[in-house]
Amino acid sequence: MSTTPLLSVRDLTMTFPGRGPRAARVRAVDGVSFDIAPGETLGLVGESGCGKSTTGRMIVRLLEPTSGSVTYDGRDITRLPQRALKPLRRELQMVFQDPHSSLNPRRTVARIISDPLLVHGSSAAEARRRAAELMELVGLIPEHLDRHPHEFSGGQAQRIGIARALATGPRLVVADEPVSALDVSVQAQIVNLMERLQAELGLAYLFVAHDLSVVKRVCDRVAVMYLGRIVEIGPKDRVYGDPAHPYTRALLSAVPLPDPAAERARERIVLAGDPPSPAAPPPGCTFHPRCPKARDVCRKEPPPLRITAAGEAREVACHFPETGPAPGDGARGQDASGGSGRDTP
Ligand code: SF4
Repeated sequence: MSTTPLLSVRDLTMTFPGRGPRAARVRAVDGVSFDIAPGETLGLVGESGCGKSTTGRMIVRLLEPTSGSVTYDGRDITRLPQRALKPLRRELQMVFQDPHSSLNPRRTVARIISDPLLVHGSSAAEARRRAAELMELVGLIPEHLDRHPHEFSGGQAQRIGIARALATGPRLVVADEPVSALDVSVQAQIVNLMERLQAELGLAYLFVAHDLSVVKRVCDRVAVMYLGRIVEIGPKDRVYGDPAHPYTRALLSAVPLPDPAAERARERIVLAGDPPSPAAPPPGCTFHPRCPKARDVCRKEPPPLRITAAGEAREVACHFPETGPAPGDGARGQDASGGSGRDTP
Protein backbone atom coordinates (compact mmCIF):
# COMPACT_ATOMS: atom_id res chain seq x y z
CA MET A 1 0.00 0.00 0.00
CA SER A 2 1.39 3.42 -0.99
CA THR A 3 2.21 5.78 1.86
CA THR A 4 1.50 8.90 -0.22
CA PRO A 5 -1.98 9.98 0.83
CA LEU A 6 -4.77 9.85 -1.69
CA LEU A 7 -6.73 12.14 0.61
CA SER A 8 -5.46 14.63 3.18
CA VAL A 9 -7.88 16.46 5.44
CA ARG A 10 -6.45 19.28 7.54
CA ASP A 11 -8.12 21.26 10.32
CA LEU A 12 -11.52 20.77 8.74
CA THR A 13 -14.21 22.78 10.48
CA MET A 14 -17.92 23.19 9.95
CA THR A 15 -20.06 25.64 11.87
CA PHE A 16 -23.80 26.02 11.40
CA PRO A 17 -25.92 29.00 12.48
CA GLY A 18 -27.66 28.36 15.82
CA ARG A 19 -31.42 28.60 16.20
CA GLY A 20 -32.70 32.07 17.03
CA PRO A 21 -31.18 35.50 16.31
CA ARG A 22 -28.76 35.45 19.27
CA ALA A 23 -27.93 31.77 19.23
CA ALA A 24 -24.26 30.77 19.16
CA ARG A 25 -22.97 29.08 16.04
CA VAL A 26 -22.84 25.31 16.29
CA ARG A 27 -19.40 23.84 15.70
CA ALA A 28 -20.32 20.46 14.22
CA VAL A 29 -16.78 19.63 13.13
CA ASP A 30 -13.89 21.24 14.96
CA GLY A 31 -10.44 20.90 13.39
CA VAL A 32 -10.41 17.37 12.02
CA SER A 33 -7.25 16.09 10.28
CA PHE A 34 -6.40 12.69 8.77
CA ASP A 35 -4.97 11.00 5.68
CA ILE A 36 -6.20 8.06 3.63
CA ALA A 37 -3.71 6.13 1.47
CA PRO A 38 -4.67 4.57 -1.88
CA GLY A 39 -6.51 1.30 -1.27
CA GLU A 40 -6.84 1.97 2.46
CA THR A 41 -9.96 1.97 4.63
CA LEU A 42 -10.21 4.51 7.42
CA GLY A 43 -13.12 3.93 9.81
CA LEU A 44 -14.65 7.08 11.29
CA VAL A 45 -16.69 6.23 14.38
CA GLY A 46 -18.55 7.98 17.17
CA GLU A 47 -22.00 8.55 18.61
CA SER A 48 -24.79 10.14 16.64
CA GLY A 49 -24.18 13.88 16.20
CA CYS A 50 -20.39 13.71 16.69
CA GLY A 51 -19.75 15.21 13.24
CA LYS A 52 -18.58 12.10 11.39
CA SER A 53 -21.19 12.25 8.60
CA THR A 54 -20.68 16.01 8.22
CA THR A 55 -16.96 15.33 7.78
CA GLY A 56 -17.69 12.79 5.04
CA ARG A 57 -20.00 15.20 3.25
CA MET A 58 -17.42 17.98 3.31
CA ILE A 59 -14.86 15.67 1.71
CA VAL A 60 -17.09 15.06 -1.32
CA ARG A 61 -18.15 18.73 -1.25
CA LEU A 62 -21.81 18.05 -0.55
CA LEU A 63 -21.20 20.56 2.26
CA GLU A 64 -18.80 23.49 2.04
CA PRO A 65 -16.31 23.53 4.93
CA THR A 66 -16.18 26.64 7.09
CA SER A 67 -12.38 26.35 7.22
CA GLY A 68 -9.60 23.84 6.72
CA SER A 69 -8.57 21.96 3.61
CA VAL A 70 -9.29 18.80 1.65
CA THR A 71 -6.46 17.67 -0.64
CA TYR A 72 -7.22 14.88 -3.09
CA ASP A 73 -4.34 13.24 -5.00
CA GLY A 74 -2.10 16.21 -4.25
CA ARG A 75 -4.64 18.85 -5.30
CA ASP A 76 -6.41 21.18 -2.88
CA ILE A 77 -10.08 20.78 -3.78
CA THR A 78 -11.52 22.72 -0.85
CA ARG A 79 -12.51 25.82 -2.77
CA LEU A 80 -12.57 24.49 -6.32
CA PRO A 81 -15.61 25.83 -8.19
CA GLN A 82 -18.14 23.14 -9.09
CA ARG A 83 -17.14 23.21 -12.76
CA ALA A 84 -13.49 22.53 -11.94
CA LEU A 85 -14.61 19.85 -9.50
CA LYS A 86 -16.56 17.92 -12.13
CA PRO A 87 -13.67 15.77 -13.46
CA LEU A 88 -12.69 14.90 -9.87
CA ARG A 89 -16.22 13.77 -9.07
CA ARG A 90 -15.51 10.70 -11.20
CA GLU A 91 -12.90 9.67 -8.64
CA LEU A 92 -14.62 10.71 -5.42
CA GLN A 93 -17.97 9.10 -4.79
CA MET A 94 -20.36 8.53 -1.91
CA VAL A 95 -22.60 5.69 -0.69
CA PHE A 96 -25.46 6.80 1.54
CA GLN A 97 -27.03 5.34 4.65
CA ASP A 98 -30.61 4.77 3.58
CA PRO A 99 -30.51 3.13 0.16
CA HIS A 100 -34.17 3.62 -0.68
CA SER A 101 -34.32 7.32 0.17
CA SER A 102 -31.08 7.96 -1.75
CA LEU A 103 -32.47 6.45 -4.99
CA ASN A 104 -35.00 8.39 -7.05
CA PRO A 105 -38.18 6.25 -6.89
CA ARG A 106 -39.42 7.49 -10.27
CA ARG A 107 -36.33 6.41 -12.17
CA THR A 108 -35.40 2.96 -13.38
CA VAL A 109 -32.26 1.36 -12.02
CA ALA A 110 -30.72 1.70 -15.48
CA ARG A 111 -31.22 5.45 -15.32
CA ILE A 112 -29.99 5.71 -11.71
CA ILE A 113 -26.73 3.91 -12.46
CA SER A 114 -26.27 5.51 -15.90
CA ASP A 115 -26.78 9.10 -14.78
CA PRO A 116 -23.22 9.73 -13.55
CA LEU A 117 -21.90 8.27 -16.83
CA LEU A 118 -24.17 10.46 -18.94
CA VAL A 119 -23.07 13.52 -16.93
CA HIS A 120 -19.47 12.64 -17.75
CA GLY A 121 -20.10 12.30 -21.49
CA SER A 122 -20.93 8.63 -22.15
CA SER A 123 -23.50 7.86 -24.83
CA ALA A 124 -26.82 6.37 -23.75
CA ALA A 125 -25.86 2.98 -25.23
CA GLU A 126 -22.46 2.96 -23.50
CA ALA A 127 -24.03 4.00 -20.20
CA ARG A 128 -26.62 1.22 -20.37
CA ARG A 129 -24.02 -1.41 -21.23
CA ARG A 130 -21.88 -0.25 -18.30
CA ALA A 131 -24.92 -0.21 -15.98
CA ALA A 132 -25.55 -3.88 -16.85
CA GLU A 133 -21.90 -4.71 -16.06
CA LEU A 134 -22.16 -2.89 -12.75
CA MET A 135 -25.35 -4.76 -11.83
CA GLU A 136 -23.45 -7.99 -12.29
CA LEU A 137 -20.42 -6.67 -10.39
CA VAL A 138 -22.53 -5.91 -7.30
CA GLY A 139 -24.39 -9.22 -7.42
CA LEU A 140 -27.66 -8.13 -9.09
CA ILE A 141 -29.34 -9.46 -12.21
CA PRO A 142 -28.69 -7.21 -15.24
CA GLU A 143 -32.13 -8.09 -16.63
CA HIS A 144 -33.62 -6.12 -13.71
CA LEU A 145 -32.23 -2.83 -15.03
CA ASP A 146 -35.66 -1.56 -16.01
CA ARG A 147 -37.17 -2.06 -12.58
CA HIS A 148 -37.69 0.73 -10.05
CA PRO A 149 -36.06 0.97 -6.60
CA HIS A 150 -39.19 -0.11 -4.69
CA GLU A 151 -39.01 -3.50 -6.42
CA PHE A 152 -35.78 -4.29 -4.55
CA SER A 153 -35.09 -5.21 -0.93
CA GLY A 154 -33.01 -2.90 1.31
CA GLY A 155 -29.83 -4.89 0.69
CA GLN A 156 -30.44 -4.96 -3.06
CA ALA A 157 -31.14 -1.23 -3.05
CA GLN A 158 -27.83 -0.63 -1.29
CA ARG A 159 -26.13 -2.72 -3.99
CA ILE A 160 -27.69 -0.35 -6.53
CA GLY A 161 -26.35 2.61 -4.54
CA ILE A 162 -22.89 1.04 -4.62
CA ALA A 163 -23.17 0.36 -8.37
CA ARG A 164 -24.08 4.01 -8.91
CA ALA A 165 -21.06 5.10 -6.86
CA LEU A 166 -18.77 2.82 -8.88
CA ALA A 167 -20.11 3.87 -12.29
CA THR A 168 -17.42 6.48 -12.92
CA GLY A 169 -14.51 4.36 -11.65
CA PRO A 170 -13.77 6.15 -8.36
CA ARG A 171 -10.58 5.73 -6.34
CA LEU A 172 -12.12 6.91 -3.07
CA VAL A 173 -15.60 6.13 -1.78
CA VAL A 174 -17.05 7.85 1.28
CA ALA A 175 -19.50 5.33 2.74
CA ASP A 176 -21.80 7.06 5.22
CA GLU A 177 -23.27 4.41 7.54
CA PRO A 178 -23.69 2.09 4.52
CA VAL A 179 -25.10 -0.86 6.46
CA SER A 180 -26.77 0.66 9.52
CA ALA A 181 -30.25 0.75 7.90
CA LEU A 182 -30.04 -2.95 6.96
CA ASP A 183 -30.85 -6.20 8.79
CA VAL A 184 -27.83 -7.79 10.46
CA SER A 185 -27.70 -10.73 8.03
CA VAL A 186 -27.79 -8.34 5.07
CA GLN A 187 -25.15 -6.10 6.67
CA ALA A 188 -22.63 -8.94 6.40
CA GLN A 189 -23.41 -9.40 2.71
CA ILE A 190 -22.89 -5.72 1.95
CA VAL A 191 -19.67 -5.61 3.97
CA ASN A 192 -18.45 -8.69 2.05
CA LEU A 193 -19.34 -6.98 -1.21
CA MET A 194 -17.49 -3.79 -0.25
CA GLU A 195 -14.42 -5.78 0.73
CA ARG A 196 -14.46 -7.73 -2.53
CA LEU A 197 -14.85 -4.56 -4.58
CA GLN A 198 -11.99 -2.96 -2.72
CA ALA A 199 -9.73 -5.94 -3.47
CA GLU A 200 -10.78 -6.05 -7.15
CA LEU A 201 -10.80 -2.33 -7.88
CA GLY A 202 -8.18 -0.99 -5.45
CA LEU A 203 -10.68 1.37 -3.82
CA ALA A 204 -9.97 3.48 -0.74
CA TYR A 205 -12.85 3.91 1.70
CA LEU A 206 -13.75 6.40 4.36
CA PHE A 207 -16.17 4.16 6.26
CA VAL A 208 -18.37 6.26 8.53
CA ALA A 209 -20.26 4.24 11.15
CA HIS A 210 -21.36 4.06 14.76
CA ASP A 211 -21.06 0.26 14.90
CA LEU A 212 -17.54 -0.53 16.08
CA SER A 213 -17.80 -4.24 15.21
CA VAL A 214 -18.50 -3.46 11.56
CA VAL A 215 -15.71 -0.89 11.44
CA LYS A 216 -13.26 -3.33 13.05
CA ARG A 217 -13.90 -5.80 10.30
CA VAL A 218 -13.46 -3.45 7.34
CA CYS A 219 -10.92 -0.82 8.35
CA ASP A 220 -7.12 -0.63 8.33
CA ARG A 221 -7.11 2.38 10.65
CA VAL A 222 -9.79 3.95 12.77
CA ALA A 223 -10.53 7.49 13.96
CA VAL A 224 -12.83 8.02 16.95
CA MET A 225 -14.77 11.30 17.02
CA TYR A 226 -16.36 13.04 19.98
CA LEU A 227 -18.16 16.38 19.77
CA GLY A 228 -16.65 17.34 16.43
CA ARG A 229 -13.06 16.32 17.20
CA ILE A 230 -10.94 13.24 16.68
CA VAL A 231 -9.96 11.95 20.12
CA GLU A 232 -8.05 8.86 18.99
CA ILE A 233 -6.72 7.73 15.61
CA GLY A 234 -4.43 4.91 14.64
CA PRO A 235 -4.03 1.40 13.26
CA LYS A 236 -7.00 -0.83 14.00
CA ASP A 237 -5.01 -3.27 16.11
CA ARG A 238 -3.72 -0.49 18.37
CA VAL A 239 -7.05 1.29 18.86
CA TYR A 240 -9.11 -1.86 19.36
CA GLY A 241 -6.46 -3.87 21.22
CA ASP A 242 -5.11 -1.11 23.45
CA PRO A 243 -7.53 1.83 23.43
CA ALA A 244 -5.89 4.86 25.03
CA HIS A 245 -8.74 7.39 25.22
CA PRO A 246 -11.38 6.87 27.94
CA TYR A 247 -14.10 7.48 25.38
CA THR A 248 -12.74 4.79 23.04
CA ARG A 249 -12.58 2.40 25.99
CA ALA A 250 -16.19 3.15 26.86
CA LEU A 251 -17.36 2.60 23.28
CA LEU A 252 -15.47 -0.68 23.03
CA SER A 253 -16.81 -1.89 26.36
CA ALA A 254 -20.32 -1.73 24.86
CA VAL A 255 -19.49 -3.91 21.83
CA PRO A 256 -21.03 -7.38 22.36
CA LEU A 257 -18.49 -10.21 22.62
CA PRO A 258 -19.13 -13.44 20.67
CA ASP A 259 -18.20 -15.61 23.68
CA PRO A 260 -21.14 -15.59 26.17
CA ALA A 261 -18.84 -16.30 29.16
CA ALA A 262 -16.55 -13.41 28.23
CA GLU A 263 -19.59 -11.21 27.69
CA ARG A 264 -20.89 -11.99 31.20
CA ALA A 265 -17.48 -11.45 32.81
CA ARG A 266 -16.50 -8.24 31.15
CA GLU A 267 -16.76 -4.83 32.72
CA ARG A 268 -18.87 -2.22 30.96
CA ILE A 269 -17.95 1.43 31.18
CA VAL A 270 -21.18 3.38 31.41
CA LEU A 271 -20.79 7.06 30.58
CA ALA A 272 -22.78 9.61 32.54
CA GLY A 273 -25.31 11.66 30.62
CA ASP A 274 -25.52 12.53 26.95
CA PRO A 275 -22.90 14.29 24.85
CA PRO A 276 -23.03 18.06 25.46
CA SER A 277 -24.48 20.33 22.78
CA PRO A 278 -21.93 21.38 20.16
CA ALA A 279 -23.49 24.87 20.50
CA ALA A 280 -22.04 25.09 24.04
CA PRO A 281 -19.09 22.69 24.32
CA PRO A 282 -17.53 22.37 27.79
CA PRO A 283 -14.17 24.11 28.39
CA GLY A 284 -10.93 22.15 28.47
CA CYS A 285 -11.38 18.57 27.35
CA THR A 286 -14.92 18.46 25.97
CA PHE A 287 -15.26 14.89 27.25
CA HIS A 288 -14.56 15.85 30.87
CA PRO A 289 -18.20 16.01 32.12
CA ARG A 290 -18.61 12.32 31.21
CA CYS A 291 -15.07 11.07 31.75
CA PRO A 292 -14.48 8.71 34.70
CA LYS A 293 -10.80 9.79 34.70
CA ALA A 294 -11.26 13.57 34.61
CA ARG A 295 -8.96 15.66 36.80
CA ASP A 296 -8.62 19.40 37.40
CA VAL A 297 -6.44 20.07 34.37
CA CYS A 298 -9.01 18.40 32.11
CA ARG A 299 -11.57 21.07 32.96
CA LYS A 300 -9.21 23.87 31.89
CA GLU A 301 -6.87 22.73 29.13
CA PRO A 302 -7.96 21.04 25.90
CA PRO A 303 -5.65 18.07 25.28
CA PRO A 304 -3.94 18.12 21.87
CA LEU A 305 -4.03 15.07 19.60
CA ARG A 306 -0.55 13.55 19.93
CA ILE A 307 1.38 10.31 19.94
CA THR A 308 1.78 8.70 23.34
CA ALA A 309 5.18 7.04 22.84
CA ALA A 310 8.12 7.14 20.43
CA GLY A 311 7.46 5.02 17.36
CA GLU A 312 3.73 4.87 18.12
CA ALA A 313 1.48 5.27 15.06
CA ARG A 314 -1.60 6.06 17.15
CA GLU A 315 -2.49 9.57 18.38
CA VAL A 316 -4.69 10.39 21.37
CA ALA A 317 -6.26 13.61 22.64
CA CYS A 318 -6.10 12.99 26.39
CA HIS A 319 -3.96 14.33 29.24
CA PHE A 320 -3.92 10.88 30.81
CA PRO A 321 -4.05 8.25 28.06
CA GLU A 322 -4.51 4.71 29.29
CA THR A 323 -2.68 1.54 28.37
CA GLY A 324 -3.74 -2.07 28.59
CA PRO A 325 -6.08 -4.43 26.80
CA ALA A 326 -9.47 -3.34 25.59
CA PRO A 327 -12.34 -3.63 28.06
CA GLY A 328 -13.64 -7.18 27.93
CA ASP A 329 -10.18 -8.73 27.78
CA GLY A 330 -10.36 -9.25 31.52
CA ALA A 331 -7.96 -6.49 32.48
CA ARG A 332 -8.45 -2.87 33.36
CA GLY A 333 -6.36 -0.26 31.66
CA GLN A 334 -3.96 1.97 33.55
CA ASP A 335 -2.91 5.54 33.01
CA ALA A 336 0.12 5.68 30.74
CA SER A 337 1.32 8.29 33.24
CA GLY A 338 1.29 5.62 35.95
CA GLY A 339 -0.92 7.82 38.10
CA SER A 340 -3.85 6.86 40.26
CA GLY A 341 -6.28 8.78 38.11
CA ARG A 342 -7.07 11.35 40.84
CA ASP A 343 -4.16 13.76 41.18
CA THR A 344 -3.50 16.91 39.20
CA PRO A 345 -0.22 16.85 37.29
FE1 SF4 B 1 -10.74 12.27 30.48
FE2 SF4 B 1 -9.05 14.23 31.08
FE3 SF4 B 1 -8.43 12.50 29.15
FE4 SF4 B 1 -10.37 14.29 28.76
S1 SF4 B 1 -8.21 14.73 29.08
S2 SF4 B 1 -10.44 12.16 28.26
S3 SF4 B 1 -11.29 14.40 30.82
S4 SF4 B 1 -8.68 12.04 31.34
